[in-house]
Amino acid sequence: MTWFSERRNVTDNGSGRFTPRVLEIVAGNFEQSGGILAAKINSLEYEVRDKEGASFHVNLSTKSCTCNVFQTLLIPCPCAISAAIKAKVRVETLVSEVYSLECLASAYKDDIFPVSKINTEQNQQSGASDLDILPPATKRPPGRPRKSRILSTGEIRVSML
Ligand SMILES: [Zn+2]
Repeated sequence: MTWFSERRNVTDNGSGRFTPRVLEIVAGNFEQSGGILAAKINSLEYEVRDKEGASFHVNLSTKSCTCNVFQTLLIPCPCAISAAIKAKVRVETLVSEVYSLECLASAYKDDIFPVSKINTEQNQQSGASDLDILPPATKRPPGRPRKSRILSTGEIRVSML
């Protein structure tokens, strides 16, 4: 039994949207949520208590829990899942869209192009700026005095001649 198959009417639109790794985490948290009691504070806030007696505050509207796992991973923690079940909120609605296959696909798409672009641009820029900055910087100190001496004397001589 999994977290999504038990909730029969969400099987179709829930399980296929997220990455297997995320589904695995949620399934694990779903199992752990069995040992957690959720007490309703209001429709979207729950006080939960785990087997060890530790209590956490889950807010389903802000998708946060005082255990910090929910808002850090953006995946519902066992307490949040317990609260969601109590609230009859679909667990997969609590999983961040960043883990959806669609979102990941577009994120990768966005990543690959701009990053490679940026890299080549940066490489070109840094390469160009290295060429711009380094040769003058290294040439100037030894080059300038000589050049200015040679040039100025040459110019003076030429202009004087
Ligand atoms: Zn939690």
